[in-house]
Amino acid sequence: MTDKELIIQLREALHQHNYNYYVLDNPTISDFDFDMKLKQLQTLEAQYPEMHDPNSPTLRVGGEVTKNFQTVVHSQRMYSLDNSYSKEDLLDWETRIKKLVDGPIQYTCELKYDGASISITYKNGTLFQALTRGDGTQGDDVTANIKTIKSVPLKLQGDYPNEFEIRGEIILPFKGFEAMNEERIAAGEEPYKNPRNTASGSLKLQDSSEVAKRPLQCLLYSIVGDHTGITSQFDNLEKARSWGFKVPTEAKCVQSIDEVLEFVDHWDVARHHLPYEIDGIVIKVNDLQQQAELGYTAKAPRWAMAYKFKAEQVSTLLNHISYHVGRTGAITPVANLEPVELAGTIVKRASLHNADQIAKLDVRLGDTVFVEKGGEIIPKIMGVDLSKRPMDSLPTTYISECPECQTPLTRTEGEAQHYCTNAEGCPPQIIGRIQHYISRKALDIEGLGGETVALLVNAGLIKDAADLYTLKIEDVLPLERMAQKSAENLIQGIELSKQIPFERVLFGLGIRYVGETVAKTLAKHYKNVGALSVASIEELEAVDEIGIKIAESVYAFFRNENSIRLVSRLVSYGLQLQLSEEAMANQTTLLSGERIVVSGVFESISRNELKALIEANGGKVVSSISAKTTYLVAGANMGPSKRQKAEQLNVPILTEQEFLEKL
Ligand code: AMP
Ligand code: ZN
Repeated sequence: MTDKELIIQLREALHQHNYNYYVLDNPTISDFDFDMKLKQLQTLEAQYPEMHDPNSPTLRVGGEVTKNFQTVVHSQRMYSLDNSYSKEDLLDWETRIKKLVDGPIQYTCELKYDGASISITYKNGTLFQALTRGDGTQGDDVTANIKTIKSVPLKLQGDYPNEFEIRGEIILPFKGFEAMNEERIAAGEEPYKNPRNTASGSLKLQDSSEVAKRPLQCLLYSIVGDHTGITSQFDNLEKARSWGFKVPTEAKCVQSIDEVLEFVDHWDVARHHLPYEIDGIVIKVNDLQQQAELGYTAKAPRWAMAYKFKAEQVSTLLNHISYHVGRTGAITPVANLEPVELAGTIVKRASLHNADQIAKLDVRLGDTVFVEKGGEIIPKIMGVDLSKRPMDSLPTTYISECPECQTPLTRTEGEAQHYCTNAEGCPPQIIGRIQHYISRKALDIEGLGGETVALLVNAGLIKDAADLYTLKIEDVLPLERMAQKSAENLIQGIELSKQIPFERVLFGLGIRYVGETVAKTLAKHYKNVGALSVASIEELEAVDEIGIKIAESVYAFFRNENSIRLVSRLVSYGLQLQLSEEAMANQTTLLSGERIVVSGVFESISRNELKALIEANGGKVVSSISAKTTYLVAGANMGPSKRQKAEQLNVPILTEQEFLEKL
């Protein structure tokens, strides 16, 4: 087989494996084998730039940056849906449409996925364009972002039409949403509020590789137009599924409104076990001919109706309010409730967010409160049943001291949260910081878990991350459930963590707002902790992607006596608080001050490697050509508009060879 044939074969195989994994949930090869095939394809594609394919499976990782999303007019308007909330509403709808069409009416009942709508055009079996709903008449071109979503087919299978548009919903399943939030919390960032907003926000991210990292899914529900020879909505769904789209199988075709109601009742309960959020059921007249007869109102199709579920609400007793102290000292009030069943789970606690929220709701001990589970995972208190309030109840006074260490709490102007500032003496803060230090994305210390950290702190053996490096086997052996073997593993794991690279140690320090990505940026820019620790706020802010909030936080961290002591002790124990020699060896300032645009496909190096090379040599990779661009490095298949723009602005164009020689 020639290399070119191999490229085609690998692409087909990878499209199929993607489909098996993300659409069918039924992978047939290991993740490792998949990655190997993908790598092989990437290497080959770099060797044969003339084989460029805008729908290659290698593009799933993203990398394209869109500064301004193009507005595009929809070929057919994206309508809204009329809403109904009761059986009566549905019967009214049936009466209305029965006057407009002849004969019996069948309905398809579908789940109403709660995310962001998308309209995707395919030409000759490949993905051509994806648009957001926008105002319904025109939307934004988010093609680059949509291509990174693994359940969106880039190439179709079966007997698809030459050209068609298909509509669906981009959603974020609960599990993926929770994983994203865990990461944010680990970085000391505010968690995302709910899956729907996070999904719809993802569509407009400028960097498609950021979208690629999010576990989004695309669920399809309608083919636009009737050029497929299909005569019903239900068959449309089946056809779309056969072309390789992810079309949930819960949809059902029924003969009457009574059966629609059965479907609704079933899913009002069963929805709590779905892996993603739905906010109702969509009922559609099944026959496409009847749909055409019914047509549209100014706002929505007459042939469809959304049935919206009421957010499930229960009332229960508020037993007491406890206060949780986080690793940064932030205080969160928690309502402890008389256990009650809600949306299929037993609820015992609900977040009260902060002092303002308590005041706003005027919740008091002994109150009967309404609890609701909406898009959020943690239930919310919606209000108080005043008719059940005890005569002698008193307004809640917010605590003024830390419940764990009795330090008076502070609250900064403009911040919602109260803080305990006793960072060094407050046990949950001490434990939380060390737990963060050892977490997977930070030092990832094998043999040490969060509970053991708490035991070690409570036994007075450690007070900060640096103390870990003073531990000996005989210190930890007396701990609960600590056998000789696990003690040895623990000490060995701690020793091994001295090899962890600078950026992860920096992340592990738990500086507020310094997440994984920011830590990487700072490590690369400052190269060692000494240089970072003396940087002024202005200097920090001048670093790419570092804003004022982060700059101030980093500056303050390195002006704090305890952090300085912690860092210098970590240095003395041999932790990596500078870039490794290998990373340093590849660093120069050859390209410093240069703003370089990279475009097209390269032969001897991948695009990402090229970008990394520029950055390692002090240059800056920019995404669009402007008068400030130093030069453009052009590979094969560069778009003609980029070349034109470069020529217009007199920006020099370098070939791959010319650039590498220059270096
Ligand atoms: P609304 O935004 O409340 O007007 O509801 C209309 C939106 O529901 C559409 O724009 C779709 O994005 C979304 N939707 C979710 N699931 C479905 C479905 N099965 N059929 C049609 N629309 C759906
Ligand atoms: Zn405290």
